[in-house]
Amino acid sequence: MAALSKACLATARLPARTQLSSRFLRQQTALPRLRAAPAPIRFPVATTTRRFFYQTPRRPYQNYNPHNHHERLRNAKPLLTDRGFSGFIRSPSTHTVAFLAFLGAVGFYFYNVQTVPVSGRKRFNCFTEESVEAVSEQQVKRIEYDVERQGGRFLSDWDPRTRLVKRVMRRLIPVSGMEDSDWEVRVIDDPRQANAFVLPGGKVFVYSGIIPIARNEDGLAAVLGHEIAHNLAQHVGERMSGQIGINILLGSFVLMTALWGGAILGTQLFGGTVLDMLFSRPMGRKQETEADYIGLLMMAEACYDPEQALGFWQRMEHMQQQQEGAPPEWMSTHPSNHNRIEKIKQWLPEAMDKRAQSDCAGTAAFADRFRRALAQGLLIQ
Ligand SMILES: [Zn+2]
Repeated sequence: MAALSKACLATARLPARTQLSSRFLRQQTALPRLRAAPAPIRFPVATTTRRFFYQTPRRPYQNYNPHNHHERLRNAKPLLTDRGFSGFIRSPSTHTVAFLAFLGAVGFYFYNVQTVPVSGRKRFNCFTEESVEAVSEQQVKRIEYDVERQGGRFLSDWDPRTRLVKRVMRRLIPVSGMEDSDWEVRVIDDPRQANAFVLPGGKVFVYSGIIPIARNEDGLAAVLGHEIAHNLAQHVGERMSGQIGINILLGSFVLMTALWGGAILGTQLFGGTVLDMLFSRPMGRKQETEADYIGLLMMAEACYDPEQALGFWQRMEHMQQQQEGAPPEWMSTHPSNHNRIEKIKQWLPEAMDKRAQSDCAGTAAFADRFRRALAQGLLIQ
């Protein structure tokens, strides 16, 4: 039984392996045949000298001659020849562009021409007050940096000299019509420098060396009134505009000189100096005269004594004569002190009237009459 069963088991196992029904086999064979695997793609092995990237073939070193560079430089053709440049200048399209640019420049010039109220002078100013103030902000930082770099220092707010300058400014600002500006006063501790300036936007810089020459508040009012007047009359914008005009003229001269084969550098130096003499310096002198006039009336309206302006410029003239000879007026951006003093003498009666008409008339005008009467030994009626 056991053997049978073994045999039965033996025989019973057989069909599972060997006696597969023909139907099963058919089913197996009826399965879709697998496709033959495609033949592997064979990339060409880089066995040749062919390159994937374009390369400039190197020149063999043995043929390199360092002198060739110099020779090639010597024989190199210029990018712009005289002939090519002349052709460019003479072409009708260049003439059209130049003519339109000229018309545009003339239109721009006349659109920006202004009349200065106090002198009636016509001037070209293409900068707004805001744009000039933006430039002066950078200038303020530059000045602060320069003062500190040179070992200088600004006087503190409680220094008597700073307080003096601030006191004068407090009286001048209301009559300047620029109360909205962001006024800041800085006094630089430098007794050797007799100078002061006010940048657009109300940034006041005073060198301590000018205070002894000003002597008193009235003298300092003459200095600061003059500097504020430059701002009121927008002289910085005018100077910046003038510089644009000079640069355009200068560029045209250089181009014309290049056309005729002349020396560009010579034109630049000569043209720059001449244009400076012809335009910048006379403009500077006119601006100074305007600032003197406006500053004088301003200090009078703020109840300062205009005669003190005369004394201040006389002391300045004396000091300059002692130090070194001032350049002749036509070479300088400033009028000579002598001319300045003469002009102030002419304007003094008007300034005195202005002072008498201002709010301080009640006390200041009487004080003036009292002083004059005292000097002449007269009684006030
Ligand atoms: Zn000035």
